[in-house]
Amino acid sequence: MAKYSSKINKIRTFALSLIFVGFIIMYFGIFFRTHFLVMSIFMIFGLLAIIASTVVYFWIGMLSTRAVQVVCPNCKKPTKILGRVDMCMHCNEPLTLDPNLEGKEFDENYNRKSQTTKL
Ligand SMILES: [Zn+2]
Repeated sequence: MAKYSSKINKIRTFALSLIFVGFIIMYFGIFFRTHFLVMSIFMIFGLLAIIASTVVYFWIGMLSTRAVQVVCPNCKKPTKILGRVDMCMHCNEPLTLDPNLEGKEFDENYNRKSQTTKL
């Protein structure tokens, strides 16, 4: 793991990149406008990528309703926790809902450990 970020933020970045990929594919299709079939294939794939990103955005919406909203103790902004352990969307502070990990979350050792081990 190179960099940690909130799960919802990660999925959102993925959905956004899908839209860009879709537009790039459709843009390449324009170069083949003399070949109607090739252009159509590019357009269909580009459209599929954009549809896929819409599906992913819808999925984020579903996940958000299941996520627990909390106020981050570090930056005092409201954020959402997905699963047992997640990161703050704003400052990447590790947050937990697990009572076993409670009390340890502001320990510097735990913070350092959570950056090197995958939870
Ligand atoms: Zn925060």
